[in-house]
Amino acid sequence: MLPLVFALVLLSDKMVFSKPFMDPELLPQYFQGDIIGEPFRARNGMTNEIYHWPNGIVYYIIEKNHFADSHYREILRAISIIEANSCIVFTPATEKERFKAVIIKSNGLGCNSLYLGFRNRPSAVNLQIYPIGEGCFRIGSIIHELLHVLGFEHQHVAQSRDQYVNIQWDNISPEYNINFVNNDKTSKWDDFGEGYDYNSLMHYLPTAFSKNGQPTIVALKEGAANMGQRFYMSEKDIRKLNKMYKCAAKDTSIEDNFLI
Ligand SMILES: [Zn+2]
Repeated sequence: MLPLVFALVLLSDKMVFSKPFMDPELLPQYFQGDIIGEPFRARNGMTNEIYHWPNGIVYYIIEKNHFADSHYREILRAISIIEANSCIVFTPATEKERFKAVIIKSNGLGCNSLYLGFRNRPSAVNLQIYPIGEGCFRIGSIIHELLHVLGFEHQHVAQSRDQYVNIQWDNISPEYNINFVNNDKTSKWDDFGEGYDYNSLMHYLPTAFSKNGQPTIVALKEGAANMGQRFYMSEKDIRKLNKMYKCAAKDTSIEDNFLI
């Protein structure tokens, strides 16, 4: 009898552990998981300056009553990491600026961003409450959503991605195929000369949108051990942001990217 009980315990453990990790950035109802607005089907950084926040100033409102103090402080910490590594300045919006501010809130599922880039109208980032360091409250997830707000797309849809990753279409839930399409050939997107970046906060995990737990994104080159990380802005993330916003040259070595 005992071996049977053991077998059942092992079986149930296996079932639990083989359940794919559900990344809250990938909750299903949105284009590419966490971008709600109109689908730009590609690239990494927006080059059209009408989508850049004027003078690099991002007006924001944090819905304070949605967050405990610890979570509120974590959002401010994410903001301070972006500011410390670029010339971007986040400024609390006054009533006058509210019409063009990004509202950071927590009244929906998952972590997502309403628009890519500046839209001269109210935008929003939703951060579902998780313990600090988990889900939408991984520091890199908060920064990921703010990088969407600043004008960055997911890395795995870059035009050049097929040289760097192999998309395993057979492992993708078919309804999410659109999240992997990269056929937009317009020139309004750029990598700012930085090339593909496995370490980017804008890269997905190897199993993003998998229907079976098997990889959907397989790296083709070295250096992909941290693909999908949500701990720090990569050196290329930092340089691309600085180039997009024409920040004065500054040393953006990884050591500056503190607060991990
Ligand atoms: Zn995203």
